[in-house]
Amino acid sequence: GFKCGIVGLPNVGKSTLFNALTNSTKAEAANYPFCTIDPNVGVVPVPDKRLYKIAEIVKPKKVTPTTIEFVDIAGLVRGASKGEGLGNQFLAHIRSVDAIAHVVRCFRDENVVHVDGSVDPLRDIETINVELVLKDLESVEKRLQKVSKQAKAGDKKARAEVEALEKLKEILERGERIYPYLDEFSEEEKRVVKELALLTAKPVMYVTNVDEEGLLEDNDLVRQVRELAEKEGAPVIKVCAKLEAELAELEGEEKEELLRELGMEEPGLNVVIREGYKLLDLVTFFTAGEQEVRAWTIKRGTKAPQAAGKIHSDIERGFIRAEVIRYEDLIKEGSLQACKEKGLMRLEGKDYVVQDGDIIYFRFNV
Ligand code: GDP
Repeated sequence: GFKCGIVGLPNVGKSTLFNALTNSTKAEAANYPFCTIDPNVGVVPVPDKRLYKIAEIVKPKKVTPTTIEFVDIAGLVRGASKGEGLGNQFLAHIRSVDAIAHVVRCFRDENVVHVDGSVDPLRDIETINVELVLKDLESVEKRLQKVSKQAKAGDKKARAEVEALEKLKEILERGERIYPYLDEFSEEEKRVVKELALLTAKPVMYVTNVDEEGLLEDNDLVRQVRELAEKEGAPVIKVCAKLEAELAELEGEEKEELLRELGMEEPGLNVVIREGYKLLDLVTFFTAGEQEVRAWTIKRGTKAPQAAGKIHSDIERGFIRAEVIRYEDLIKEGSLQACKEKGLMRLEGKDYVVQDGDIIYFRFNV
């Protein structure tokens, strides 16, 4: 599955947020056979109003949201890249995720100790980034040592790689992350980044953890983070982790009531999940039958047969065509049948790139 890692300094609210994420969805997550036993990994259903709108129309026996995984990555402290704290352990975890939710403490509370003695989100962000950059620099330099020997021996491919590595090294030596540069990289440079699984090449969203007042109006700490994030082109989400933990314990009317009192439309967690989803560059398509209406996750740009393969490998293998109705058309027409009669069902072949919101029926040979 697609994974989003939660990182941040100790005591900023990572576990509180992670527990809220997994708590609020425990009942649903229990339905997933692949739900892992690792206590640091949570399988979280993606809240998507469209799924329930489709279900209202189709009236299936079962409704199944799509999921992403959140991983609570503890142990990232100053000096971690040199083995401080849990040291290198956390790095393996970060390597395995597709995106990073960086939790930043933006609440002041004397009862909660800060590892560096004061609340300062920009310094905290810098501390974490330095560790990731140092680790990447180590990976790049190690590789450079190896490949430059081959390059000197006249290997052309090695020479191209050395060039790419030098460029990466330069960025990292300035203390910058690789991710913001990815778009301008050549294919060779991208290949090297991927090969080394660089930590700073993953997309990041900042999750500012505020107190209740901070929710209503940005405090100065949140504003600092927003300013930084804007420069990096990274999204910022604001939550009160403590409150989210309380919300996660509630259900139904009780939950609605607390949300109303707080002037919130939905739990902040929903926003965290949806932003995480966006960060991973994923799109959702739906299948809608009498048995089940279900949301599926694919990487943007996935073609119809491979999308079908998410459901079952047989459907990919025997793929004939996809019958596609747009979500908006279904809502407007009120039934799948009406869409068909109006010619709103398209027949798409194996080169069709599945779009977000497609409702698909796959035809295949068994
Ligand atoms: P972690 O080390 O980053 O996983 O941090 P924890 O989630 O364990 O939180 C550290 C401490 O901060 C705990 O005592 C939490 O109750 C407290 N905490 C977490 N979020 C908030 C918050 O939004 N406001 C306040 N006042 N305290 C919080």
